Amino acid sequence: MRDHVDQHLQHDNLQGSNLPNHIQQRYQRRIDLIHAELNIHPDYANSRNLPLQIEAATTIIVATDNTGKTLRLSPVTQSAWCKMQASAERENIKLIMVSGYRSVEYQRELIVNKRTKGQPLEKILQVLAAPGYSEHHTGRAIDLTTTDCPPCVEYFEKTNAYTWLQNNAANFGFSLSYPRDNPYGFIYEPWHWSLREDK
Ligand SMILES: [Zn+2]
Repeated sequence: MRDHVDQHLQHDNLQGSNLPNHIQQRYQRRIDLIHAELNIHPDYANSRNLPLQIEAATTIIVATDNTGKTLRLSPVTQSAWCKMQASAERENIKLIMVSGYRSVEYQRELIVNKRTKGQPLEKILQVLAAPGYSEHHTGRAIDLTTTDCPPCVEYFEKTNAYTWLQNNAANFGFSLSYPRDNPYGFIYEPWHWSLREDK
């Protein structure tokens, strides 16, 4: 069991660029096929400066949301998140996790569902990363909200929870991934925090 966990932690720290070439290439081919199926432009990643995000090898259940959906993170992220959440709690700040790890397949389904509802692909890709390019694949990204704030809204930046995160998240290794006018073509996401890769 011990070996099992250690192996996971090791893999948790593997970054895209550190993966053996053949594995990264195979992953890239899988992503390219999904993009072709979804009619995502082959230049998508280049034009948006988006790095390939590798799916976490291992994730652990962190919580269950109010719809019964399990929320998962990579082991290293789960540990950092629990410390950060407890620290906030001691200052009467309630940090609520609303989204964590997402597989490539789940990301594909999210896009398919929005397209089925008639949303144009261009609009969808402003709020959702294409499969293979979501930080949520890595298990290091967390969407957060707080009491009396709906999930994933810009209003989150007005809350005490956001102010607390701005002042303290870096101490736990977390940073805001998509600030205003970010170079990746995503909308401003004050709720989306990610564990830095060197943690
Ligand atoms: Zn997010």
